[in-house]
Amino acid sequence: MSEDCIFCKIIKGEIPCKKVYEDNDVLAFLDINGLTQGHTLVIPKQHYVNIFDIPEEILTKIAKVAKKLSIIYKEKLPCSGVNLLNANESCAHQSVFHFHLHIIPRNENDGVDLDFPGQQRTPAELDAVLQKIKN
Ligand code: 5GP
Ligand code: ZN
Repeated sequence: MSEDCIFCKIIKGEIPCKKVYEDNDVLAFLDINGLTQGHTLVIPKQHYVNIFDIPEEILTKIAKVAKKLSIIYKEKLPCSGVNLLNANESCAHQSVFHFHLHIIPRNENDGVDLDFPGQQRTPAELDAVLQKIKN
């Protein structure tokens, strides 16, 4: 637990949340500022900052919960699809420094813009990156 962490406070029950799922290791609750109806955060009950320190076993548990909830949301909300999103560090727009995976239910023309403005990369550029990663 981290003293000043808002998600640790939610886990301890000091701040209320709209819980959708809970087990020994994982909690899922509705985002207070949801992009779409049902926007959910899946978090570990232990405090891990982000992808860089969360143990693989806990990440696996979070992924399993996200899959179960995605299937339930598709049928029950309903939604046509979901985005699973996770931000790590402030450069990547992480704003709460307790690991969380967003489940964002999606429908056609729902007004959410998650387009990534990519740039076409040359084969040489891609090879240069591959070399960095592999060496
Ligand atoms: P990030 O920007 O770090 O990827 O996402 C943090 C998310 O946490 C945001 O979508 C924000 O709306 C949500 N959030 C922040 N504080 C609270 C809170 O107190 N309760 C709930 N339910 N969600 C929160
Ligand atoms: Zn925390």
